[in-house]
Amino acid sequence: MIAAIYARKSTDDSDRNEEARSTTRQVERATEYAHAKGWTVDPRFVFVDDAVSGAEWKHRDGWNALLAALEPRPPFGVLVVSELSRIGRDTVRTPAAVLALEEAGVEVRSYLSDAPITLADESGEISTVFNSLAASFERRRARQRTRDALERRARAGAATGRRTYGYQHARNGDGYVHQVVDEAEAAAVRQAFALYADGASLAGVARALTARGVPPPPQSPAWSGGAVRDLLRRTMYRGEVTWGKRQAIMRGGTAALKHRAEADWITAPAPGLRIVDDDLWARVHERLGAVGATFARRRDGRLLGRPSGEDVESRYLLSGIAACSICGASLVGKLRGPDRTPYYGCVRRHKAGPRGCRNGLLIRQDVLDAEVLGVLVRALDPKIVAEAVRGAVADLQADRAGAVARRAAVAADLGQVAARERRLLDALVDGDGTAEAIRGRLREELARRDALTAELTRLDLEPAIDGEKLAQDVAQRAQDVRAVLGRHVAQARQIVRLLLVDRLVCEPCDDAGGRGYAFRALGTYRKLGVPAVERLGNHGGHTDACRVGLSTPPARARRPVARRP
Ligand SMILES: [Zn+2]
Repeated sequence: MIAAIYARKSTDDSDRNEEARSTTRQVERATEYAHAKGWTVDPRFVFVDDAVSGAEWKHRDGWNALLAALEPRPPFGVLVVSELSRIGRDTVRTPAAVLALEEAGVEVRSYLSDAPITLADESGEISTVFNSLAASFERRRARQRTRDALERRARAGAATGRRTYGYQHARNGDGYVHQVVDEAEAAAVRQAFALYADGASLAGVARALTARGVPPPPQSPAWSGGAVRDLLRRTMYRGEVTWGKRQAIMRGGTAALKHRAEADWITAPAPGLRIVDDDLWARVHERLGAVGATFARRRDGRLLGRPSGEDVESRYLLSGIAACSICGASLVGKLRGPDRTPYYGCVRRHKAGPRGCRNGLLIRQDVLDAEVLGVLVRALDPKIVAEAVRGAVADLQADRAGAVARRAAVAADLGQVAARERRLLDALVDGDGTAEAIRGRLREELARRDALTAELTRLDLEPAIDGEKLAQDVAQRAQDVRAVLGRHVAQARQIVRLLLVDRLVCEPCDDAGGRGYAFRALGTYRKLGVPAVERLGNHGGHTDACRVGLSTPPARARRPVARRP
């Protein structure tokens, strides 16, 4: 009989017996065992997995090759392993693997116990299931030992992962890699905290650090608002280490990372790592907290949108949302005049003068904001919203009427195909015509039937839509959103971005109607978080119907609002 061998070594086997720790040894012992039994070991059927957990089933090359070798019929009659835990260490997939081998006609043998591993009889089943259970427990204990070791290291002030900005890794002879404050980076950390505490934006802090030539953190190519935000949140800078934020788990037979709840994180004081004093830390986090309160929420507290960096930092509703129709660049807010009145103007014109863009029209912020908000509020009128949704649903229903007709046609076609197949089969049986020609036609009919059946299935899957309910849901949501529009800028900006399909294009005009900006905008209800609306929109060709006609007759901000810089 030909014997195959499977050997596996895992990262969680560190303190187990000699057998588990070396795949070479497992293969040697298994080979000896096979020879003693009078079996032949074929080197092509020696499968090895190194450093793979006993709960990992997906990324296990050796095991997958073994399974592949079983098809179409196994080239070996017996599989030798050191013990069941080499196949796996869980209670469900391991017995299932043994079962798969047995069903393929392969006997599984453990050389350590010189016994079969089987599910074929009662005592075999009991012992296999029991050993799987024991192996699974052992794996859990190994996990816990790893976590305990990590905790000991963290408590001893040792590094438990990658280098953190502000610290260097150093060995001091106790076997652990310690972290020591890097004075140059620590100075940059303090600068970032101080700048932010004094009112700079995240992006502003990033710009200041770049301007001062401070090298960015190791994982970032350059200073950015995001990099600064990460840095401001790092509790190590106030002399505290935190670990266990994420947990390695098995999901679907493969390894995954899960975020632990904050209550389960482990933190310990590490005064030697402190870079920022408590007062500065508190000032920064008070400001970060205030910013966090700007997330737009519905009445039930669910999140409607997340503020972008600009949402939080901009005092202007439309900065970066409105665009110049001449050059396509953003309109941004600028303070002008001795009384520092806020205006919007083309950013390219602002930066490069008339060479950058010929649109030099400035418009007062409050005027344009009020005009755009007015349009949005009108567009969010529950009656108008409900009407728009009804229109979209009606389009969809008309389409469904077409689908019903199409369904009938397809069903009739299918009937004819079946009749033709029947006749062809009869002809084949009776020996009329050449068999080859009949087979060819039969194949054509079968292909046609497959296509028709597939279409029928698709037509039947189209979900029904309760148009009235949907219209009410969206109108309700629109009302929630409308309420948020009146709140402060950071929240209103999120809503405006949510409602607009694209940017708000502003066209400067200077004619008999006066000077000002005309704007058009295409709105959408699709992002309001009503699932069926998204379905409407995703339904082929109906995206248009879901859009809100925000494009009013060019709303024009008149009044003496514009002036040349
Ligand atoms: Zn422009």
